[in-house]
Amino acid sequence: MIETKNLKKQFGTHVVLNGINQTIRKGEKVVIIGPSGSGKSTFLRCLNLLETPSEGEIWFEGENITDPKTNMNLLRRKMGMVFQQFNLFPHLTVKENITLAPIKLGLMDKTAADKRALELLERIGLSSKANAYPRQLSGGQKQRIAIIRALAMNPDVMLFDEPTSALDPEMVGEVLELMKELAEDGMTMVVVTHEMGFAREVATRVMFIDEGEIKEQNEPKAFFEAPQNPRLKDFLSKVL
Ligand code: ADP
Ligand code: MG
Repeated sequence: MIETKNLKKQFGTHVVLNGINQTIRKGEKVVIIGPSGSGKSTFLRCLNLLETPSEGEIWFEGENITDPKTNMNLLRRKMGMVFQQFNLFPHLTVKENITLAPIKLGLMDKTAADKRALELLERIGLSSKANAYPRQLSGGQKQRIAIIRALAMNPDVMLFDEPTSALDPEMVGEVLELMKELAEDGMTMVVVTHEMGFAREVATRVMFIDEGEIKEQNEPKAFFEAPQNPRLKDFLSKVL
């Protein structure tokens, strides 16, 4: 579904991604871990071209999306993204947040988009919040709404950048639970997180990124129980 070929990103002279060659297949749940500043967010943001790669190629569903002719609207629709800080529009209601993009991109008319929004809200038990504003919601509710807002576009893959890092501890569970349901439904997911329990339980593959390179990757059991790279061993000893 996604392939990066020698993906490099630098800001000025600072090399952040130093040649990443990875393939993510349909249905995979890839969890990315690594120290702060190692390039995790930059990697995710390159995948949907929120950052322009400095070098290399990214292929998505058989197309080279680093080609300047790429249809950005289509790409962003097919790759849902969820951020640490929710990024809901504060001046729009919950329902309007969910329906804005599908209506704007002409995927649905207002009636169909409203219906879909209410179905998604129902699914997460927040139908009663359809007409509320983001400031009236808890962090966990905001993040779950950000997730279904992305789902409203029927994406083929979901990218998550530390979706629970800004939440109070008691709200982390409800967000991880929704992500787990998506995983069980077969969604292709790339998740940057510090939630090692989620990585163990949900990931099909865990990657360790350090100094802009994928230094090690494996299925979760071997990854956590038999790490090889000394920097990964050190990292795990601090977070587990
Ligand atoms: P992580 O998500 O792993 O913490 P990031 O991908 O956010 O790391 O950042 C990696 C490095 O790139 C950091 O040193 C950060 O300061 C730098 N960086 C990220 N975005 C920019 C930017 N827009 N301009 C300059 N430097 C950046
Ligand atoms: Mg980050």
